[in-house]
Amino acid sequence: MSKSILIKNGYIFPLGARADMLIRNGVIDSVAPSIDPAEVPGEVIDAADCIVIPGLVEAHCHLDKTLWSGPWLAERSASTIAERIALKAKNAEYGLPNATYADTLLRHMVSLGTTHVRTHTDVDPEVGLRGIELIQEVGDRAADLVSVEQVAFPQSGVVKAPGTHALLRKAARMQGVVAIGGVDPAGYDGDPHGQLRAIFEVADEAGCKIDIHLHDPGTLGAWELELIAQYTKAHGMQNRVTVSHAFALGTVEPAMQQRLAETLAEHGISIITALPYDRPLLPTNMLLEAGVALGMGNDNIDDLWSAFGTGDMLERAWLLAYRSEWRKDAHIRTALDIVTTGSASVLQLDRYGVSPGCKADLVVARARTPGELVVKRPRRRWVIKNGVVIHQPASD
Ligand SMILES: [Zn+2]
Repeated sequence: MSKSILIKNGYIFPLGARADMLIRNGVIDSVAPSIDPAEVPGEVIDAADCIVIPGLVEAHCHLDKTLWSGPWLAERSASTIAERIALKAKNAEYGLPNATYADTLLRHMVSLGTTHVRTHTDVDPEVGLRGIELIQEVGDRAADLVSVEQVAFPQSGVVKAPGTHALLRKAARMQGVVAIGGVDPAGYDGDPHGQLRAIFEVADEAGCKIDIHLHDPGTLGAWELELIAQYTKAHGMQNRVTVSHAFALGTVEPAMQQRLAETLAEHGISIITALPYDRPLLPTNMLLEAGVALGMGNDNIDDLWSAFGTGDMLERAWLLAYRSEWRKDAHIRTALDIVTTGSASVLQLDRYGVSPGCKADLVVARARTPGELVVKRPRRRWVIKNGVVIHQPASD
């Protein structure tokens, strides 16, 4: 049982007001204008110049691919999705997947205030289920610091890589695997019905969710989104399917964007974006107004695919606000919403937030408003997981 913590006079987000917050036994006990420290013995955090937010949620990354704390690659030459997928041939050369790299990155994410992580782990005939087992061990070792869930990810395709379907069936029943992945059913696998039929069957049988990488742009990607909605309905998987990236949403005309947003909302299909490079922005406000759950992730972090990514979810929020040209706090706070409650709603996290009864997963940082937090991305002064301070740098 953890001791109590009283956070005094912080700006509570998304509540939008200064208040005191009492944490007891791992949960938020009360939030009130003033709580007397004399009545609640325990640690007191003076948050007078700080904002208090629920733990940041990394909704899409690839811990099994990272080279974090390992060699720095001066050249990463692949440019197309197919070329990047072919880079798996170099995994053995770089010792991937690597528990030390994954563990070091995960703990770095914790220091940046991330309290929940969804990571896509490659499953294919070469690596088999080794990556899933390795990431599960890494997650177990860090369980007091961060919650890790895995997507069994057929990076090499399902139809294109015979044997993957059977591996996914096994992976779906492994501890820590919450979803089955997919990758460009048309553009990469070349058989949209073949891939979708396989992954929906596996998810249906095992009772797990689905989270599909969909990079295909334009009308092809739009058609695949409609097809995913049809499979979702046919399998009764409303509110259990996520599409990651969905670049098509940013590349079709507004009328089709609107129609797709309504289709996604109708079937409870959530979207995760990482905003890589110069890919078009998704219609953020249109999706939110339609009622689509929208989360964010770093995606690739210092790996064979990408040199970029630091694991900082506030950096992702900054990128969204910057590329959206949001200039007012009222708009910039949307980005903070997406990396907290947005990602949490995609992952369907239990008792997430800053209300009494929620799990005490919190971040305290020196900023006066959500806008200042996103723009300045200050050091995280206190990171709290399950009611325990797990990260506290010496000073700002
Ligand atoms: Zn990804």
